[in-house]
Amino acid sequence: MRTFPYEVIIVGGGHAGCEAALAAARMGFSTILLTMNVDAVALTPCNPSMGGPGKGHLVNEIDALGGEIARNTERSYIQVRTLNQSKGPAVQSWRAQIDKRLYQENMLSVLQRQPGLDLHQAEVSEIMTDGRNVLGVVTRTGIEYTAPAVVLCTGTYLRSFLVVGPKRFAGGPHNQPPSFSLGLWLEGNGFALRRLQTATPCRVAKDSLDYSVFTALPGETPHPDISAFLRMPERPQFPSYQTCTSEATTSVIRDNLSSSPLVIGNIVNTGPRHCPSIDRKVINFPEKSRHQVFIEPEGTESGEMYIQGATSATPPEVQLAVLKTLPGFQSVRVTRFGYGIEYDALESSELTLSLESRRLNGLFFAGQINGTSGYEEAAAQGLMAGINAALKARGDRPFHLLRDQAYIGVMIDDLITKSFSEPYRMYTSRAEFRLLLRPDNATRRLSRIGRRLGLLSPCDYEKIREHWCRVLSKLRQMKKTFFFPDAQTNSTMSAIGSAPLRKPVTGMDVLSRPEIGCRDFSQLLPTWKLSEPDFNLLKREAVYAGYWQRHKSDIERFRSLERVSIANTDFAAIPGLSNEARERLCEIRPANLGQAARLQGVKPADITVLWRYLKNHGL
Ligand SMILES: Cc1cc2nc3c(=O)[nH]c(=O)nc-3n(C[C@H](O)[C@H](O)[C@H](O)COP(=O)(O)OP(=O)(O)OC[C@H]3O[C@@H](n4cnc5c(N)ncnc54)[C@H](O)[C@@H]3O)c2cc1C
Repeated sequence: MRTFPYEVIIVGGGHAGCEAALAAARMGFSTILLTMNVDAVALTPCNPSMGGPGKGHLVNEIDALGGEIARNTERSYIQVRTLNQSKGPAVQSWRAQIDKRLYQENMLSVLQRQPGLDLHQAEVSEIMTDGRNVLGVVTRTGIEYTAPAVVLCTGTYLRSFLVVGPKRFAGGPHNQPPSFSLGLWLEGNGFALRRLQTATPCRVAKDSLDYSVFTALPGETPHPDISAFLRMPERPQFPSYQTCTSEATTSVIRDNLSSSPLVIGNIVNTGPRHCPSIDRKVINFPEKSRHQVFIEPEGTESGEMYIQGATSATPPEVQLAVLKTLPGFQSVRVTRFGYGIEYDALESSELTLSLESRRLNGLFFAGQINGTSGYEEAAAQGLMAGINAALKARGDRPFHLLRDQAYIGVMIDDLITKSFSEPYRMYTSRAEFRLLLRPDNATRRLSRIGRRLGLLSPCDYEKIREHWCRVLSKLRQMKKTFFFPDAQTNSTMSAIGSAPLRKPVTGMDVLSRPEIGCRDFSQLLPTWKLSEPDFNLLKREAVYAGYWQRHKSDIERFRSLERVSIANTDFAAIPGLSNEARERLCEIRPANLGQAARLQGVKPADITVLWRYLKNHGL
């Protein structure tokens, strides 16, 4: 049988696989992306959107490192809005409605134009190994692809079953074929797998709704930045719409709860709590009758609308009856009914911080297979696994990000140290250092790393480097610029509606005043020529500088524990550890003391015992 040699093999052309393949190829490695259906590359089987709080943060970080998802969203958006505007900038984020077909086409063309990357349509059914190391993969047609590093990004397809009411049958998203052989191979070779599920709502005919009763949600012009490296000319944006369920909706659902898979029990009960199905909402919040429903366009030319908030896997006739209770849906025509999907995911104890398997050297996992949910979460893992597969192929040390460096670091650390009974979704509240991890400083935190890894081109990096040099030199100037409580300054202050100065202050103090905008500031300091975006960035830097000072010691303490490596520690030999802690430490094998401290079941007393042991053994 014919064998194809490569340096890196990526299995699965979803959001994780696309980033992983581009990362390895951009780092200069011969890479092959194997996927069951080339026309389904970068498919978005659920909501037609990217971004939002937590998810947008991940996308900005992928962009800063040199990934593709942000640029592809900029090419394919049909509407962009800023969410969380009532909160601080650190937790605000853009959210873009995308044209699903355009998103796929654009990503496919980027993959096909990438030097060093081949794309083959094939289903991988087995992994080739010598018992310790991965050697390659075999496809269902028996073709062998060899490489020292393989990344599995098989999403929601591993031994997947579709569920609609009492019906349950083998199938992948949008009725694509599932991938059974590989799931069987993983289970047969001792990999710890679990069953997770998610579900999606109906799609309805765009022209079958009465838009006059909905609230329109238009996009913002100019649209907020998505990528730091690509901004296309403004183009017309398409609104989404909002409506609400009613008493009638709740009673139709209540009357038909017996046909819900959750009640029938023909789907595992480990679905995403963050976007519950509408029947789960009625079960969990019986007192509530008004649930928000968003009607979102699937694309500029698409004749379909996505009904966010009406996720359901009940029988089609029940789904239709529920829809007809919604204002504006009386003449609705459904084009695709909602369904649930149950699939294999890996137990997190199988993975290291570089997303490499603990069982097989050179085998990496990324995306929904690791127990997350969301295009953005998958793309972030794909990028990291692609980088680490390339480093593995070169025999280099693995790379990972810390919790105070990036949301990506928070997500992967959470996946490794904590166990989640439902698919993991990124929220800003998961990041304890979120005030440091703002979307607008992702390039400052990560682009140097992206350039060093060879992911970010010299020209893109130079643009960012210049930008931050300019902003940071202004910031330094601001720290040395003083405003005095003289008559002229204070008359300007009162003219712009800000309190008069009582004592000399620095430019940083003035910048931190929420009421002072770019134009106001140039009145106070006419010599200062700053663009509005640069001024706003400077202002955020000034506002958050205080936070950094206040939390410096916490961050230093966090970093000091992260620096204490315990990768080769024999936990079984340490007296005084609790049995639960010893068991968890031996199972998860944390890389450092900070990670050990975050393990469920490991108490502060255990960390003290561990620390003392390390000191006494000169470690
Ligand atoms: C019904 C449904 C509802 C969802 N609801 C939500 C939601 O509400 N919120 C949310 O955030 N996310 C939701 N998602 C999840 C979202 O789609 C995923 O998070 C995201 O697509 C995961 O990306 P991925 O790259 O890990 O995998 P996927 O996008 O699933 O891509 C996997 C790819 O691997 C390929 N593949 C699989 N097995 C093999 C094999 N053996 N050989 C070769 N190729 C293979 C597939 O063809 C596919 O191209 C939903 C998904 C589905 C299907």
